[in-house]
Amino acid sequence: MTQSLPLLQEIEQEMRALRHQIHANPELGYQEVETSALVAERLRQWGYQVTRGLAETGVIGTLKKGTSTRVIGIRADMDALPILEKTGLPYASRIPGKMHACGHDGHTVMLLAAAYALAHDHPFDGTVHLIFQPAEEGLAGARRMIQEGVLEQFPCDAVFAAHNMPGYPVGKMGFRAGPFMASADQVTVTIHGVGGHGAMPHLTVDPVVVCASIIMALQTIVSRNVSPQDMSVITVGSINAGKASNVIPDSAQMLISVRALNNTVRDRLESQIKQLIHAQAQAFGATADIHYSADYPLLVNDPQMTRFASQVATDWLGEDEVLNDIVPFNGSEDFAYFLQQVPGCYLIIGNGDGEKSCMAHDPRYDFNDDILLRGAGFWVKLTEAFLPLNP
Ligand SMILES: [Zn+2]
Ligand SMILES: [Zn+2]
Repeated sequence: MTQSLPLLQEIEQEMRALRHQIHANPELGYQEVETSALVAERLRQWGYQVTRGLAETGVIGTLKKGTSTRVIGIRADMDALPILEKTGLPYASRIPGKMHACGHDGHTVMLLAAAYALAHDHPFDGTVHLIFQPAEEGLAGARRMIQEGVLEQFPCDAVFAAHNMPGYPVGKMGFRAGPFMASADQVTVTIHGVGGHGAMPHLTVDPVVVCASIIMALQTIVSRNVSPQDMSVITVGSINAGKASNVIPDSAQMLISVRALNNTVRDRLESQIKQLIHAQAQAFGATADIHYSADYPLLVNDPQMTRFASQVATDWLGEDEVLNDIVPFNGSEDFAYFLQQVPGCYLIIGNGDGEKSCMAHDPRYDFNDDILLRGAGFWVKLTEAFLPLNP
């Protein structure tokens, strides 16, 4: 790939080695002790004002140049996943059952490399806050940082973040204004029936049969109650009931994941799911307890900031390297919490689409080091453009 910044090229080998070091030593959400120490140490070395301890292991590096009051925030996530790595790489995880399977090791190093370049060259006029966030994977580190005041202590005019994206050509930068990543809700359902002898079902209310009926009926919500134009997903990921073939249990549990790309659909799904489960249970003489918990909100990119970021990428790399209006993703992302507070853009960088390309969260996945400098270079270019010397 071309168009690397000279200062970044000088540190490329060092940054690759650093990425491998973090990859070999993965830490789960809120436990990023060594990773955050490493980040903080580098930032300090390079002259950043460093703040630690927000959301346990969060690190903010601040650099101010010139006199402008404009501020840009750029966020990287640092956490790994509870997965047993199967890449066979020389720098594979040294900790069984923990793995950087989403490329957050790469995101961390991309932002660190950008930090180096911004500190050593690349004049700008204003303030940059580099936000290294813990616990993106399901534990809402972003929400916790915001609750603990990150945006009051470090107010930003705009915030940006990027994710590597398997299945997209190496280094291609993808943008989409508006809703981009799905909302994710988790529903815990308990069906209460009447247990008894497996040979005498007529004396029981069998919660297993009730669950079976509910699971089939749930499929009709997406196909019959939501417009075919609107993406939505209902997945029953877990069912749990009984222990023996000859005993009808008195209760059964289900865990359901619900995704949507707009809040009207999200609300509709919630009311339909509740109504359907209660009605189904009642039809069999059972009752249902439903606990509906909102996980990550819909991620909505600000149209103006998305256009701005996409233009920076196009000016730097040319039109061929930039994909606009890419399709939204059914996955979710806690940067959505930042975007609820401050306008900004969450973008993707292709991790490769070849045969060996593996989806994130796969035990064979690896971040593609060839995009380290592209991501880092983009953060530098974006900072320069957002905080221009001669506005
Ligand atoms: Zn992930
Ligand atoms: Zn991720």
